[in-house]
Amino acid sequence: MSYLKDFPNKDGYFGEFGGAFLPPELEPHFAEIERAYLRLMRSADFLNELRYIRKHYQGRPTPVYYAHNLSEAVGAHIYFKREDLNHSGAHKLNHCMGEALLAKHMGKKKLIAETGAGQHGVALATAAAYFGMECEIHMGEIDIAKEAPNVTRMKLLGANVVPVDFGGRSLKEAVDSAFKSYLSQADEAIFAIGSVVGPHPFPKMVRNFQSVMGLEAREQYIEMTGELPDHVSACVGGGSNALGLFSGFIDDADVQLHGVEPLGKGTELGQHSATMTFGKPGMIHGFKCMLLSDEEGNPAPVHSIASGLDYPGVGPEHSYLKTSGRVNYHAVTDDETLEAFYTLSRKEGIIPALESAHAIAWAMKFGRENPGATILANLSGRGDKDIDYVTENFGHG
Ligand SMILES: *Cc1c(COP(=O)(O)O)cnc(C)c1O
Repeated sequence: MSYLKDFPNKDGYFGEFGGAFLPPELEPHFAEIERAYLRLMRSADFLNELRYIRKHYQGRPTPVYYAHNLSEAVGAHIYFKREDLNHSGAHKLNHCMGEALLAKHMGKKKLIAETGAGQHGVALATAAAYFGMECEIHMGEIDIAKEAPNVTRMKLLGANVVPVDFGGRSLKEAVDSAFKSYLSQADEAIFAIGSVVGPHPFPKMVRNFQSVMGLEAREQYIEMTGELPDHVSACVGGGSNALGLFSGFIDDADVQLHGVEPLGKGTELGQHSATMTFGKPGMIHGFKCMLLSDEEGNPAPVHSIASGLDYPGVGPEHSYLKTSGRVNYHAVTDDETLEAFYTLSRKEGIIPALESAHAIAWAMKFGRENPGATILANLSGRGDKDIDYVTENFGHG
């Protein structure tokens, strides 16, 4: 593994992207987090505890599964990494357990975060319950109304859900609110970022915690088939499930990597969230990345049928991997995503998260055009959270 060691550099840059643009009061706290992370990743106790949690609490390794019915229908060989079977139903717990274990070893008592659709909030509240820590989740009032089941889950898990009632009352304001709260209690709390975004060292830490997926999947795939897949695909919101899976294959030059973004309802600004396809370099939430912005350079409004993918920025590492050409980026529409959602449910008995259905929609399309190809797609989460929305708006397929 040489790429993972070389990127990012010590200041958190992947080429021109990344970095840490922080209010001065937060600089020492982020430096402390990085020092603790570097120390703990060399500590046998820390790594053993993480290994124990993954095996006995999360149920890892999650399987790699050959989707035989889907493969037959498409004419290519499609495999899934089954993160829907990770405890709490998605890949997010991989980095939340890592961040919470780090916080515990740093002597912190509290985990703070924002959440949009509530998925990160639920995963973090799960980790907080496991470690017996306090958990404070900031969430816009609009999202609280839209995502009632996740709000209930967070409360059941013991989290304090803080409603955010200013501005657009959604994800961006929730980030601002959580950061402000963190500033006032950074000695006893940690701000646990929910993807490979934010200021250094979070993009690196979250990727490394998520790389367990890719390391498992590479070994499992070889064991099943005796070789490596031709193609690996994953959806990209902030980009953590994609980088986790890609990490296992990034040094395998023959394996092509594909990030799949939401094209939503179309190519017009505001109708999609395809940052790689339509964005340009910019700055959001304390780091440099590709960004969808309006004429004044402010983050643009975005849309996706999958609320976990509607972020106008993207991880700095993805921004770099596009420039370097190592990863190909594609975009699929809401309609293509829905088709994949229904097809997978009917043909394989697996209801995928709408986010994950993007990676599968691309695999189906590519497979039809490339008969016989082998594709490993990331099934980043299960779709229980999406069934009411899908059936009320689009029927039963
Ligand atoms: C949050 C979420 C995503 C998007 O986040 P990334 O950081 O881009 O991986 C994808 N899939 C599921 C199931 C999610 O909950």
